[in-house]
Parts: sequence; structure tokens; C-alpha cells
Amino acid sequence: MGNTEQRRGLCHVCFEQNDLVKTYFHFPIACECCGPTHFSIVYHCITCTPRAPRVTELQVATAKLLDPIHAGLFKKVTDE
Ligand SMILES: [Zn+2]
Ligand SMILES: [Zn+2]
Repeated sequence: MGNTEQRRGLCHVCFEQNDLVKTYFHFPIACECCGPTHFSIVYHCITCTPRAPRVTELQVATAKLLDPIHAGLFKKVTDE
């Protein structure tokens, strides 16, 4: 959403302390934690190229897992 909130911390890419920006990676899952689709946030230096994390944690309604197609667990993501 054009949000360039900054904070100081450990870059997820080069593991240096730096002023970080965050990049959202969206996943086509209708989770209970993030809203319409799941995303995970990678904090990184402005100069580092963020990569999607290898794993992500999310909360999913068990009803959606039991009937994923009907409950619309999997969403389409449109790349921006
Ligand atoms: Zn970095
Ligand atoms: Zn989520």
C-alpha cells in the first residue's frame, strides 16, 4: 500500500543491522491472520533484494481445511 515505514533491525537478507524497509509477500491462502490473503513480511535493507521466506506461519480456520474448495481456502493472487 505504498507504506515505507522504516525501522532499525536485522536484515532478513544479509543479516546486518541496518535501517530496514519491509516487503510483503502474498500467498493465495484465505487465512485467519492477515485478511483476504496470507502475507509474510520481510524486513531488509533498501539495497538488499528481498526474497520470499522459505516457511511462513499462518492461522487457518479448521472448517476451511476440512472443505477447502467450498470454503474458498485457496485464493487467486493478482501480481502487482
Ligand atoms: Zn541487507
Ligand atoms: Zn495470514
